Amino acid sequence: MMLASRISLIKPSPTLAITAKANAMKAEGRDVIGFGAGEPDFDTPDNIKQAAIKAIQDGFTKYTPVGGTDELKDAIIEKFKTDNGLTYNRGEIVVSCGAKHSLYNLAQILFEEGDEVLIVSPYWVSYPDIVTLTGGTPVILTTKEEDGFKLRPDQLQAAINKKTKAIIFNSPSNPSGTMYTAEELKALCEIILKTGILVISDDIYEKIIYGDVPFFALPSICPEIKSQAVIVNGVSKAYAMTGWRIGYAAGPGEIIAAVSKIQSQNTSNPTSIAQKASVEAIRGDQSKVGEMVATFKERRDYIVRALNNIPDMSCLNPDGAFYVFPDFSRYYGRVYNGKEIKNSSDMSDFLLDEVNVAVVPGGEFGHDKNIRLSYATSMKNIEEGVRRIADALTRLK
Ligand SMILES: *Cc1c(COP(=O)(O)O)cnc(C)c1O
Repeated sequence: MMLASRISLIKPSPTLAITAKANAMKAEGRDVIGFGAGEPDFDTPDNIKQAAIKAIQDGFTKYTPVGGTDELKDAIIEKFKTDNGLTYNRGEIVVSCGAKHSLYNLAQILFEEGDEVLIVSPYWVSYPDIVTLTGGTPVILTTKEEDGFKLRPDQLQAAINKKTKAIIFNSPSNPSGTMYTAEELKALCEIILKTGILVISDDIYEKIIYGDVPFFALPSICPEIKSQAVIVNGVSKAYAMTGWRIGYAAGPGEIIAAVSKIQSQNTSNPTSIAQKASVEAIRGDQSKVGEMVATFKERRDYIVRALNNIPDMSCLNPDGAFYVFPDFSRYYGRVYNGKEIKNSSDMSDFLLDEVNVAVVPGGEFGHDKNIRLSYATSMKNIEEGVRRIADALTRLK
């Protein structure tokens, strides 16, 4: 079969691939502990499920407007007002089949050959591929662990040239869990404003934060940036709704209309039933979110401490999301059964083969020294998994 060359430019999502491999090993009866998951391990709250059941029973099962129902757009508009102090109208909101779909469509309508798109590394695995598929060029800005994996303003300034179209920004970050403070955002905003580039801000982990420092959306910090900013968010992570596939984008009307237009020629509307469920998620009782975040926080506190207790290991304390991104590189160069562990991929294979622990190699996120572990799994699994990792590492010579 002759496939279009475009498909050879990208790779399958590695996080989804690792989860699938771990699940296949489990199905064969192997006692696998999975730290690969990019989704909450909690069930979708019951009030949300009930809203979906009601939607089915009420016959709300037909096409809706391509960019989402007015009801859901209004709920999203209220969310921006209360949570972020931002005002949008319906023409500035589009609902997609997940935040990934919003990002994909945004890239399709904004980027083309000759455009450079800045991506902060460590980055979410999909950003470079989503840009590459448009013909645009991803430009990776590598941050340092000693800077808390945060982009420095001088680094941003130095990367911008005539070809730079946009920056894709993600705070709290997947994989590092880093969240920028208001001060840090302001400094980056000034450069974005001055240079006139666009910013696509992926705020999907907005509600999963642990410290006393509040979350700020970029345009809440510097209102003048609003005409250059698109915020992407969704219900997947905050409400344990990954399978429902509802995400959204908010930004200038011209951009949002173009996303709606391209959506009208691919998916049409997101699922009607999931839209009803999302209205309940956004407008309904929020107490489950707090409970989930409290549980994530306990696990984070434990896993960071446990990993830092392993010799030659260092792990930053993440501010948000549900991942840790420890540095395993002091174990590279060591040998097991005659085979040298050279990089994050060898290390991940070693952990899976030796002690049945599934992790995601940091190389997939642009940082080969590190490994991503998701703590969206039970405390029991976390305790046993970290114990196994510590044990496996002692076998390396
Ligand atoms: C999970 C995730 C998404 C995608 O969320 P969906 O709404 O399920 O498509 C987007 N960005 C980041 C950084 C994520 O981790």
